[in-house]
Amino acid sequence: MLYDQPDILKPPRSDVLLVTPWLAPIVWNGVFNRDILNAQFHHIDVHIGLTAFAIKKYVLFLKTFIESAEKFFMVRHKVTYYIFTDHDNISNFTLADGRKLVILKVPAYERWQDVTMGRMEMIRDQAIKKFSKEVDYLVCVDVDMIFLEEVGVEILSDIFGTLHPGFFGALQSEFTYERRAESAAYIPFDAGDFYYAGGNFGGVIEEVIRLTNFCHNAMLEDKQKNIEALWHDESYLNKYFLSYKPTKVLSPEYIWNNYYGSPNAMPFGFNSWPA
Ligand code: UDP
Ligand code: MN
Repeated sequence: MLYDQPDILKPPRSDVLLVTPWLAPIVWNGVFNRDILNAQFHHIDVHIGLTAFAIKKYVLFLKTFIESAEKFFMVRHKVTYYIFTDHDNISNFTLADGRKLVILKVPAYERWQDVTMGRMEMIRDQAIKKFSKEVDYLVCVDVDMIFLEEVGVEILSDIFGTLHPGFFGALQSEFTYERRAESAAYIPFDAGDFYYAGGNFGGVIEEVIRLTNFCHNAMLEDKQKNIEALWHDESYLNKYFLSYKPTKVLSPEYIWNNYYGSPNAMPFGFNSWPA
């Protein structure tokens, strides 16, 4: 394979941080060569699980989610979609070779907060029982998303999180972490590296089990005290990543929301929440 030699004196981008202080790569557009990475991951014949929840009316998002993932998610790698749903009749999708879809029937909690928080327990339990025997990596995402460009093996690592598009220019004191000291998700105003999004994390099965188990147990602990963290599963995820640093961090491009304007304009002039 032929490609340009990396130039040790010329970083591919100088406008953004490319590595965390604990030496985890931060993945931005334009800083990696996907051909090299694809070759590496094809060597180990990697198999990736993509989990998404389509509970109640969110089942409407499933079609665009899967169809766009077929176009852009881990193209030419082995992929299993794990769709957690309370619906009985999920229509068939035409999938490319080496890809399949598994439906996991789960109950629908009444409150949407319980639906999103319940993901941690359900992912943990299936990771222990099933995913660990079937795939090498898990990518756990919201279903109300469309893949607009290639998302490939550059995201894979032992345990990764994604920078929330609303906060990557913000100070730690401005992050919407849980601030009540009694909560198991508590982070004081002078702590925290980044604000991670709840809708895109993953890693090897063992590490995803560790993360989801921590978050689920922290939620249970809080529930006993009648506390629910401000941003639900996202608050517990942020607490986890404060102590157990991710081994890779994805740029907000990986969970962009047009509400924040165009990703092409970032990060210049970006300042936390829009007024
Ligand atoms: N979800 C669902 N049914 C619901 C509420 C949430 O399936 O009634 C799942 C769905 O996968 C969704 C995720 O939980 O993408 C997170 O919820 P949501 O996208 O509403 O959270 P937000 O992105 O607004 O934080
Ligand atoms: Mn969402």
